[in-house]
Amino acid sequence: MNALPAWMTDEHLSAEITPLLRGESEESLEQLAAEAQALTLRRFGRIISLYAPLYLSNICSSGCAYCGFASDRSFPRRRLELDEIEKELAAMKAIGIGDVLLLTGERTPAAGFDYLRRAVEVAARTMPRVAVEAFPMTVAEYRELAECGCTAITIYQETYDPDQYGQLHRWGPKKDFIERLETPERALEGGIRNVGIGALLGLSDPVAEAKALFRHARHLSRTYWKAGISVSFPRIQPQEGGYQPAYPVDDRFLVRMICAFRIGLPDVDLVLSTRESPLFRDGMAGLGITRMSIASRTTVGGYHDADSAGSEQFEVSDNRTAEAFCQALRAKNLEPVFKNWDSAYNGPVRKEEASCH
Ligand code: SF4
Repeated sequence: MNALPAWMTDEHLSAEITPLLRGESEESLEQLAAEAQALTLRRFGRIISLYAPLYLSNICSSGCAYCGFASDRSFPRRRLELDEIEKELAAMKAIGIGDVLLLTGERTPAAGFDYLRRAVEVAARTMPRVAVEAFPMTVAEYRELAECGCTAITIYQETYDPDQYGQLHRWGPKKDFIERLETPERALEGGIRNVGIGALLGLSDPVAEAKALFRHARHLSRTYWKAGISVSFPRIQPQEGGYQPAYPVDDRFLVRMICAFRIGLPDVDLVLSTRESPLFRDGMAGLGITRMSIASRTTVGGYHDADSAGSEQFEVSDNRTAEAFCQALRAKNLEPVFKNWDSAYNGPVRKEEASCH
């Protein structure tokens, strides 16, 4: 394995949040939450940006131990054809979604770069914001995606512990720890305007993961200061394959982690998905969290044809309709926003605009 980047081992980058994560600060959790909420209100107002995932394909060549789509799981595999993608998008538009996250597994001949590029082109015709969560790409490929209307990519490192990473990624292209670690920078160099990172909580020691994730976010936001950086906090959910988290993360730690990130990174979007329960999501909306998924289907084709959509990547915990979730946000005096971007801004960000100052 190549050498780790300097930011990964730089304790100074995460020094201010370490006592908060370990519960060693003098502030109680309630005080931390109040501070995080006040900072969120000051920087983001009462707005919660909403998005929904669209699973393009469940075909994958990798063997991630924690994933329901790993190549050793046995269920029918499929990808959406372009007309089916249009139907999915239409069903999403009908419930108000204007911000879509397109997902695929690792690169395969059936669902490779050309397929993904065509899917982005189709989505960008109707959705103002099109994000992609797929396989690591080259700078040139990211530039092409940006030109087709991709405004953001999401790429989770899953775990920042290289040993755990090696054991959990049993085979396939995702085994390359460093290549994945360097992917957000390649996307930003390629002109993608927004990058989302995260660790899959439960795979490794949560304090160490939180510190590494924080350093990564801080490194990216300092180096690419005009780009949008967001951080997600996914916890492992039940999935085909039955992987049990070796380091379960309880609600209290997750609240502490989200508050610490808000205090340390006041301008960064913090994201919470429908993996979490309605109770937890309602509690965290506006309390650090500024961006949330809504009405999610984690099956291929789940919006327009739920009956034949097949196996889920993982179980969704918050199954509320878009309307019910928006009502819950409004009851907290928060404003759900379905469109927080205009396609007039699309296209790759110019290099001098995006990178190092
Ligand atoms: S996490 Fe992604 S790369 Fe890994 S098995 Fe699942 S779909 Fe494939």
